Amino acid sequence: MARESTQALAARLEKIIAGLRRTYPDAHCELNYSNPLELLVATILSAQCTDKQVNIVTASLFPKYRTAADYANAEPAVFEQEIKRIGLYRNKAKNIQACARKLVERHGGRVPDSMAELIELDGVGRKTANVVLGNAYNIASGIVVDTHVARLSQRLGLTRETTPEKIETALAKITPESEWTMLSHLLIWHGRRRCSARGPDCSNCEIADLCPRIGVAKRD
Ligand code: SF4
Repeated sequence: MARESTQALAARLEKIIAGLRRTYPDAHCELNYSNPLELLVATILSAQCTDKQVNIVTASLFPKYRTAADYANAEPAVFEQEIKRIGLYRNKAKNIQACARKLVERHGGRVPDSMAELIELDGVGRKTANVVLGNAYNIASGIVVDTHVARLSQRLGLTRETTPEKIETALAKITPESEWTMLSHLLIWHGRRRCSARGPDCSNCEIADLCPRIGVAKRD
């Protein structure tokens, strides 16, 4: 397939976004949270784990841990047990408590609203920071690239890049800033519901006419 110009790509992506908005009019972050601290903790917990599983754990965690100090002061062994249903729970427990200590020491217990400050926190990389900034603070700092966004960006021919950072840069070039947060939600929703890793349902796909299906095996 010939390379599309940046302009043509941006125009096609605009149509893809419109199609996905029609398909998923209420696409949103599927982690449950009611404030930036809860979203930060939920996002750290969600690495390599389903949102559903995280929501089950945070339903009993959040009523107990209301401030950063609550996490910082928790007994490590008790806190570990409370998130035990989550993959990599030991590591995540350590990160959340270290992160909470920094929130207390450096930010008066508040979750900062800048990329530079967020990525200084334990367990927080660009992806987690983008989730918090875009959803809790409504700040378009970048584009969340998780496994769904990465896979769909390839299949839809939006980029040939393969690392999350490079995919993010490529998508940012062809997406209006006002759509950065929503683009991730839409691709994640479509990835979960239609364009799964193992079995993309191309014959029923709502944006099939806009998709070159890069790397998707043809079916009879
Ligand atoms: S046409 Fe197939 S590969 Fe393309 S987005 Fe739809 S399900 Fe995914």
